[in-house]
Amino acid sequence: MAHTRLMRELQRQGVSRREFLTFCASMATVLGLPEGSAAAIAKAVENEKRPILVWLEFQDCAGNTESFLRASHPTVADLVLDTISLNYHETLMAAAGAQAEGVLDETVKQNKGNYIALVEGSIPGDADSGYCCIGGRSALDIAREVCGNAAATIAVGTCATFGGIPAARPNPTRALSVADAVPGVRNLINMSACPANAENITALIVYYLTLKQWPPLDRYRRPLFAYGKSIHDGCERRAHFDAGQYVESWGDEAHRHGHCLYKMGCKGPATSQNCPNVGWNEHTNWPIGCGHPCIGCAEPNFWDVMTPFYQKLPDVAGVNTDRWLDTVGVGLTGAVAAGVVVHGIGEVMRRGRGRLVVEEKPAAGKGTGEQAGAKK
Ligand code: SF4
Ligand code: SF4
Repeated sequence: MAHTRLMRELQRQGVSRREFLTFCASMATVLGLPEGSAAAIAKAVENEKRPILVWLEFQDCAGNTESFLRASHPTVADLVLDTISLNYHETLMAAAGAQAEGVLDETVKQNKGNYIALVEGSIPGDADSGYCCIGGRSALDIAREVCGNAAATIAVGTCATFGGIPAARPNPTRALSVADAVPGVRNLINMSACPANAENITALIVYYLTLKQWPPLDRYRRPLFAYGKSIHDGCERRAHFDAGQYVESWGDEAHRHGHCLYKMGCKGPATSQNCPNVGWNEHTNWPIGCGHPCIGCAEPNFWDVMTPFYQKLPDVAGVNTDRWLDTVGVGLTGAVAAGVVVHGIGEVMRRGRGRLVVEEKPAAGKGTGEQAGAKK
């Protein structure tokens, strides 16, 4: 069998075909695709024309870039050089200054409607404010031009998805999510979390390469394969929650035995992401697995409404906690309360013109991307 350029490059880097197929199988698992999909993924990743990507960074800490750089299967170099064509990324590209901005300008002009924009960080809402300018242009102008001409936009991380820490009260820069900064942007997909998990970003691109469409989304425009289930539902400590076995203080016997962290402030019942299954750091572990509560980093306004991080949620939707727990006034907002039930109601997938689409409940608030129409 003739080797493709990708396979030659993987071999050059010491990655065997078996390891490549293992990667494809792991992607199929993350995506929840049926057994046997790994072969289709392998074929698509090997043979499909590379999509052009531009990665914009605005008001951020570069944590999502760091997360992406840690993607182990395939290595980021494999992705950048072979599977995708990352034309512009301030942190990764060798070019700088006017040369770098020229690459972005050229990419947008020559590939109008045919490239994918990834955005990391929030965007100051006032173009004349002087906050976050690159090459003399405001982040708002750049986002509107680049995302406005893209085939799809992927908001990477909670800042781009919901405004993030820069949007925390009192929000001095009037930080906006991509959805709010570029209303009506085409095919917006939100990959919330702080940072977004590189496995999920990779899986999203693999899904697109394989199926030539974007995956079904939840009401916050997040892929269901990654955000379709709560942390609580997938948690390895769930049996302890159900049995009323809680950690009461750090290092106590229950903590040492891996009991539930609900009383220590775990926001897993109000948070949706696939951390229990996908894990972090090459599947080494994940926060709850190593004894720390989930802080709800994938949910809107988590920095305001999930705090204090070490105070427990007042109640858990659908679960009678009265037997064990006294109520405390954490003061969850409607947005978070909606997040608890978001995957249980309102999402009806149907097939139309060969594409999966999602019928969503009416928008509950700004900053979620709910208002951005993005059906392909
Ligand atoms: S409250 Fe947290 S630690 Fe306990 S079962 Fe739910 S997600 Fe797991
Ligand atoms: S466990 Fe919770 S806080 Fe940790 S990464 Fe997952 S969603 Fe974010």
